[in-house]
Amino acid sequence: KGGVGKTTSSVNLAACLAVAEKRTLLIDLDPQGNGSLSIGLAKETFKEKNIYHALIGQIELKEAIYESELPFFHICPSDNNLSGAEIELVSLFARESKLKNAFKSVDKDYDYIIIDCPPSLGLLTVNALNAAHSYIVPMQTEYLAMEGLAQLLNTVRLIRTSLNPSLELDGILLTMYDSRSGLHKQVATEIKTHFGDTVFKTIIPRNVKLAECPSFGKPIILYDIESKGSEAYLA
Ligand code: ATP
Ligand code: MG
Repeated sequence: KGGVGKTTSSVNLAACLAVAEKRTLLIDLDPQGNGSLSIGLAKETFKEKNIYHALIGQIELKEAIYESELPFFHICPSDNNLSGAEIELVSLFARESKLKNAFKSVDKDYDYIIIDCPPSLGLLTVNALNAAHSYIVPMQTEYLAMEGLAQLLNTVRLIRTSLNPSLELDGILLTMYDSRSGLHKQVATEIKTHFGDTVFKTIIPRNVKLAECPSFGKPIILYDIESKGSEAYLA
């Protein structure tokens, strides 16, 4: 679903894994490129070599990987070129497996690869779900929070039967939670009742520092380590 904290969670979870000295790669698979900009990569540096070029087979994924401020944190960026890939891939052989195949050259180099998906269930997201061992569903504790989930779970079911049988749900991550809001409390309770233990105990609070840090090109732990947002993503 759009705007629920996918990019914020991908970037900050990846950064937290990296400070724990886990070799971590963040793949920005969204043509909006928000993840790439959030960690301070300048657009010009990756215009010629990014996830788009790796997906369509022009380059190896390795060549589209860039370092960040944190030693264990690498990123494979994207820009709006990638929106074309959704269409260009359609005519290619094994179009659902482009990312999975691209991973083969790098997956030994990393303990964790986090993929930030676009807000749609198109070919890019299908590639992500096919390449992944597991997935996390960020969910905002707002009205209509569960809207769209049925479609996602249906896509997952199809992918499990045809492409990636071992794909697993890591859990549902509640995001942008405001403990003073009655609605948020009520929706969080409903989601927990409905999904039980699949909901992560850690809840990401609404925290202005999390919204600010992308404009400084930094993950939250480099922007304000003492913020509630840092605490939550570290947890
Ligand atoms: P899209 O579907 O467009 O890719 P998304 O699911 O990736 O969106 P984000 O970009 O992570 O969502 O978040 C949407 C907006 O909410 C951003 O402006 C982000 O800075 C802000 N935001 C995300 N999480 C929080 C939070 N916990 N507290 C405050 N603001 C947040
Ligand atoms: Mg996003």
